[in-house]
Amino acid sequence: MTRLELSPDDLSGAMEKAFSLAKDFWTTLPERGSFHGTTGEETTRLFTREWGEAGLGAAVLDDFTAIADRSRPPGGTFFGYVLGSNEQVGALAEFLAATLHQNVTAWRSGPAAVAIERTVVSWLADAVGCAGFSGSLCGGGSAANLMGLAMAREAKAPANDDGVRDACVVYASDQVHMSIDKAVALLGLGKRNLRIVASDEDFRMRPDALAAAIAGDRQAGKRPIAIVASAGAVSTGAIDPLPAIAAIAKASRLWLHVDGAYGALATLARPDLFEGLALADSLSLDAHKWLYQPLDCGCLLFRDPAAARTAFSHSGDYVKVTNTDPVEAFAFFDETLELSRRFRALKLWMSLQYHGRAAFREAIALDLHHARLLEELIGAEPDLELLATGPLSAVCFRHQRADNEAVLKRVIERGRVYISNANIRGEFALRACFVNNRAHEEDVRAIVSEVLAAAREAG
Ligand SMILES: *Cc1c(COP(=O)(O)O)cnc(C)c1O
Repeated sequence: MTRLELSPDDLSGAMEKAFSLAKDFWTTLPERGSFHGTTGEETTRLFTREWGEAGLGAAVLDDFTAIADRSRPPGGTFFGYVLGSNEQVGALAEFLAATLHQNVTAWRSGPAAVAIERTVVSWLADAVGCAGFSGSLCGGGSAANLMGLAMAREAKAPANDDGVRDACVVYASDQVHMSIDKAVALLGLGKRNLRIVASDEDFRMRPDALAAAIAGDRQAGKRPIAIVASAGAVSTGAIDPLPAIAAIAKASRLWLHVDGAYGALATLARPDLFEGLALADSLSLDAHKWLYQPLDCGCLLFRDPAAARTAFSHSGDYVKVTNTDPVEAFAFFDETLELSRRFRALKLWMSLQYHGRAAFREAIALDLHHARLLEELIGAEPDLELLATGPLSAVCFRHQRADNEAVLKRVIERGRVYISNANIRGEFALRACFVNNRAHEEDVRAIVSEVLAAAREAG
């Protein structure tokens, strides 16, 4: 054995142990509830230690139990934020991908992995009605949004060489995700140049307000470059009126980026809701949200690969591709932010084919059904009031006679279900979001009974 390698026996032992820990974790998920129940004091005490000179050997795997017991369980009762529930075949594929250790940066460094990523990206594009788009996988919606806006800026106000000079304006509704603010800041466009456009009573961007804002900025000598539309706003699931916004983008020659990190994959179950998605120049998706994949698995899709290369191709001589075969010359590093890239595509390849397209469509449809069920249950409960509900799976509501912040805290501590919160037109709302393939109807019903119980306890 060379250094840092395991003997065949040690390897078998460690693998058996690791897989049995994973299996136990999954089988005990229903008993683990929805809350970790730990404290900062405890995690500091348990997980602060010196890196010893001598190795611990396979005994270190025993730490998994203490770690798992202080982890928020990805079970069927978690309805906070927008976080998928972790599909098991995808998790196994993550292990296999790490085993292969491919650098998915260019075809020559990972031929099968690059071919597979290009295929799964085309599946995702097809699944959201954007057949023909290409793109790449990345860490999440934030990275995808950053790349989409980097492409927009380079297409409409090139700055890679000389930096940003004009006051370039990006438009988004008041429901836009914070990752857009962050992207605009990081790209040097300036957060003050993110123009917030009013949304209507259904939390959808108002096209008339958008058109007026663009005209006003042009008149003031600014340079409008891009519109960010939401296909599933994070708080309410609202879908901006994509065809009308796309028409404005076209008439004003602006880049249209759609943030579909939460919602766009629901096209699989409800294509009717997402008319106009294919009019985008770029589109962010998050397979670790509504395709239930293990973290992390974002995706940026775009219509024109040349625009991606304009934004991201900065090849140094040490990576220059000399091959002229169109497949073999392909390099993701020319179309993305990353150079070294892990094999995220393997989990999609295995998970999506293991179950088949129908199974994912049905899981998403069930999430949508659970959201409608919760709305009904809230409607039937005199103490509860629905505050916002979009076409997707986020449901915002409140208890009419209790301090809702205190209620939320109690609900989480009780550990039966996990929900989070949203700000709905200035009001603190309780929020449940269904992107959870492990949830049962009784878990949805428990949201209501837990909120009522928490309100009684919170006084
Ligand atoms: C989650 C989310 C993001 C950010 O995605 P990450 O994967 O968390 O980086 C962006 N936009 C929307 C609408 C989201 O729901």
